[in-house]
Amino acid sequence: MPFELPKLPYALDALHPHISKQTLEFHYGKHHQGYINNLNKLIPGTKFENATLEQIVREADGGIFNNGAQVWNHTFYFLSFSPGGLHEPAGRLAEAISKQYGSFDSFKEEFSKSAITLFGSGWVWMVKKEDLTLDIVQESNAGNPLRNGLLPLLTCDVWEHAYYLDYQNNRPDYLQAFWDILDWKVISGRYEG
Ligand code: MN
Repeated sequence: MPFELPKLPYALDALHPHISKQTLEFHYGKHHQGYINNLNKLIPGTKFENATLEQIVREADGGIFNNGAQVWNHTFYFLSFSPGGLHEPAGRLAEAISKQYGSFDSFKEEFSKSAITLFGSGWVWMVKKEDLTLDIVQESNAGNPLRNGLLPLLTCDVWEHAYYLDYQNNRPDYLQAFWDILDWKVISGRYEG
């Protein structure tokens, strides 16, 4: 069965003014959809024809990996937002962040720095390691930490298509907006899972 663009749990104008409707129309409607279309064209006749998206992310290479991981990454990214979400981590994730980074603000500072300094296109991730501690990792292009045995909890897309219409080349302003639209209920739930 072909992969499909997941429905978003909010309207395309719901993240305004942090992320505009126009950005979502392109980023979700064109880029995310484009990766899905490419993936669906690439997999017939390969061993990934009946694979799950996660199997593709973990095992594929080349174009199938690039498009499959971009589908996974974008779905994960868009589902982390909510116009009326929880603004701070909760439960065991809140404890883990305080223990490791001292405070939520220090964590945000470190994650933002990692996102702002990532050279070129890619994704910055907060991950849960096997020993239950956290880490912040930079990945280039379509990179996904599942390939290194890490559990993704949060990601920021730093490809220019994620922010150029709203913030042009100003990645730090985009990061500022990013913190305002995250739903920490969703993100904290990933740590528990
Ligand atoms: Mn993107």
